[in-house]
Amino acid sequence: MRLALLSDIHSNLPALEAVLADIDSVGVDEAWCLGDVVGYGAQPNECAALTRERCTVGLVGNHDLAALDALDISTFSPAAAAAIRWTRQAMDEATRSYLTSLESAKDDAEVALYHASPRDPIWEYVLWPDQAAHCIRVQARRVSFIGHSHVALFFALAEEREDDDDPPDARGAQAAAGTTLDLSRGRWLINPGSVGQPRDGDPRAAWLELDTEAWRATFHRIPYDIDRAADAIISGDLPEHLARRLYVGQ
Ligand code: ZN
Repeated sequence: MRLALLSDIHSNLPALEAVLADIDSVGVDEAWCLGDVVGYGAQPNECAALTRERCTVGLVGNHDLAALDALDISTFSPAAAAAIRWTRQAMDEATRSYLTSLESAKDDAEVALYHASPRDPIWEYVLWPDQAAHCIRVQARRVSFIGHSHVALFFALAEEREDDDDPPDARGAQAAAGTTLDLSRGRWLINPGSVGQPRDGDPRAAWLELDTEAWRATFHRIPYDIDRAADAIISGDLPEHLARRLYVGQ
């Protein structure tokens, strides 16, 4: 199957539209979303409707749960918490019911999906090789996908020896646009990057193309109308910082 994996849309409609158009131009069988449809940005209902329409599989993320009032936001940054309070007011019933229908992990497909990590599908940020090695050892499928950190990256672990109590760190790196991975051997944990709020220094919207027959993955980045997303944040009276960060991909 040829899949498009996308994550962390964060109510950024121009970015989501650009990614879906890019996915259409590449041509895949299905699109799957790894969660955080809302939060930070100004168009939660439009993004939820489009994600529901276009993604045959969807996960719920920590910002989605926070918007549903199902998660404590005391550890959120002030801007993130302000955006959650704003989103709770702005969300319509269709968005609420869509987000309520989603789970934070899916491990019954050919690949496993988690919003944050295989160990903690809601909160853990997987950014380091030693941490990724532990995650890879507990993930439900040989090849698994996560979102949450908003950084396009991959980790790989070679086959483990039976007597190995202390496995080596996973090999890993941030993945620039156009990076392709041969996933035919080994165990992998991969983050496609963020559609609506990239934090890896590349402000372009991210998605990942996956072919589960050839076992090949390709990281894609696509420019989008950042002004439109930023203007919606500012005219919606969300924290201005949330608009500014879109331009630098941080
Ligand atoms: Zn997120």
